[in-house]
Amino acid sequence: MSEVDLHLHTTFSDGTLTPTKLVKLCVDRGLKIIAITDHDSTEGIEESLSAADKYGKINIIVGIELSTDVVDGEIHLLGYYVDHRSHTLQNKLRKFRDGRTERGSRMVEKLNGLSINISWDRVKEIAAGGAIGRPHIAQAMVESGYIEYPRDAFDRYIGRNGPAYVERIKLSPTEAVQTLCENGALPVMAHPIYSMANTGPEAVKKLNRTLSELKEAGLVGMEVYYGAYNPEDIKLLATTARKLGLIPCGGSDYHGSGNPDEPEPGSIGPPTESVEHLLSLRKCPPSSC
Ligand code: AMP
Ligand code: ZN
Ligand code: FE
Ligand code: FE
Repeated sequence: MSEVDLHLHTTFSDGTLTPTKLVKLCVDRGLKIIAITDHDSTEGIEESLSAADKYGKINIIVGIELSTDVVDGEIHLLGYYVDHRSHTLQNKLRKFRDGRTERGSRMVEKLNGLSINISWDRVKEIAAGGAIGRPHIAQAMVESGYIEYPRDAFDRYIGRNGPAYVERIKLSPTEAVQTLCENGALPVMAHPIYSMANTGPEAVKKLNRTLSELKEAGLVGMEVYYGAYNPEDIKLLATTARKLGLIPCGGSDYHGSGNPDEPEPGSIGPPTESVEHLLSLRKCPPSSC
């Protein structure tokens, strides 16, 4: 168990716990510092801060997760201490969420074409106003009995190479880093191994190149301690972070999604020094983030 978890999702994107329930769970599990990092949304932040006030003994880092498609995979960027009150940021996030809605409806159409008869209305109902993501579609498929677990939907239909996959709004990893920087956030690459097509030496070299390029654009850290990683992955990524001068971050990426073996909040996380390092680089005034 770690006292720090810098990667958590709520019902404001594709998590299944409200911010209040998530914060309560984290307090109960002994966490001291958590970051709320919903996809393309900071709508859950105020509720998280109120819940932290109510339950006490836990610090919330205001965060976000932006996703980008690249030629051979996806790169996700976390942004810590983002200025969630910025209108420019909120306008951008609304655009990304609208893109998610459009993309979601197109994936449902493709599924319907494959005789997977889930309804778009039901998917929207499951998302309940949060940023729509593939896990909401996967949930609708579980409910209708097409698959057993949400992850089966990714393996068979809506994973990157699946027959019902649709790409997201065009955004490059560098643009995502720049958007985060422009809005006071400290950009950190999420789950770097998930971003690699495979894990051979070539992939590691390529990851190093990408990280160096993104560092030029403002990247300050990378996830090393991640829910799904084994000790070897962590060792490799810790070395990479040290060599490149990036802060080793991480967390469970908890969604409460119903997949077997999902890491619980705090099951993994970075050392407190990483948060201290992030804090020392924090750009926006405390009143705004
Ligand atoms: P989206 O944001 O719509 O592209 O969906 C990405 C989200 O789907 C991730 O943040 C995870 O929550 C979830 N996800 C991605 N890959 C898988 C997988 N193989 N199995 C289960 N969930 C996944
Ligand atoms: Zn997610
Ligand atoms: Fe992610
Ligand atoms: Fe995530």
